[in-house]
Amino acid sequence: MTRDDVRSYLTFYRDLGVTEIYDRPAPTPAAEPVLAPVAASAPDPLPPLAPSGDTLLQIRQDIGEDCRRCRLCEARAKVVFGSGNEQAKLVFVGEGPGADEDAQGFPFVGRAGQLLTQMIENTAAKEGIPIRRPDVYICNVVKCRPPENRTPLPDEMEICGQFLFRQLVAIQPKAICALGSTAAKALLGTKEGVTRLRGKWHKWRDIPLLVTFHPSYLLRPYNQDAKREAWEDLKKLLHFVYD
Ligand code: URA
Repeated sequence: MTRDDVRSYLTFYRDLGVTEIYDRPAPTPAAEPVLAPVAASAPDPLPPLAPSGDTLLQIRQDIGEDCRRCRLCEARAKVVFGSGNEQAKLVFVGEGPGADEDAQGFPFVGRAGQLLTQMIENTAAKEGIPIRRPDVYICNVVKCRPPENRTPLPDEMEICGQFLFRQLVAIQPKAICALGSTAAKALLGTKEGVTRLRGKWHKWRDIPLLVTFHPSYLLRPYNQDAKREAWEDLKKLLHFVYD
């Protein structure tokens, strides 16, 4: 690999928000089989973003029980990694744990989570799609609760975002649903608001991604229109993934 290759490779991943490089020990030379020489002109293949054969278990272990990579560790009780079907065709990505999630260690288990469950299960039932919440995978951009439920800061999103990206690469869902503007920003790198982004297909890498309102936003009593729109988004998403 030339210096220019290395530079463009690093630039590509930096633009995706990755700031750390995995330093895996090289295999011991003694174990290597003798390989035929490679033609001098053959380009070196780019190593993958995530370690090859990455699994959710490996990612969880890499985060560690007492992650201290950013300031969110100071007030959190539990790291909230994600839950659901590890081979899900559909992944929902929220912003970050709230008080209930922080206490229990699972995403979307508070009021917003109950609404999300209802939205998934009621829409699926109405549309004749045989799925329940445990059939999808649910996680967040940041894995630790921001104090007072504030929006995660850019450096927190960047540090934790690499684990989110690895989760998505490991699961390889058919579609991703970004819940709210923090998830949309982390996955699409846009500052555009949800109202403009929602209802249309976008892509995270090659995976179709739909943005919709965050369930916490829908819990506010004056957001009836948004509620109706979120239900439409979900219908579209479920039919795309499960038809
Ligand atoms: N809000 C989120 O974004 N994620 C959760 O897990 C809970 C509430």
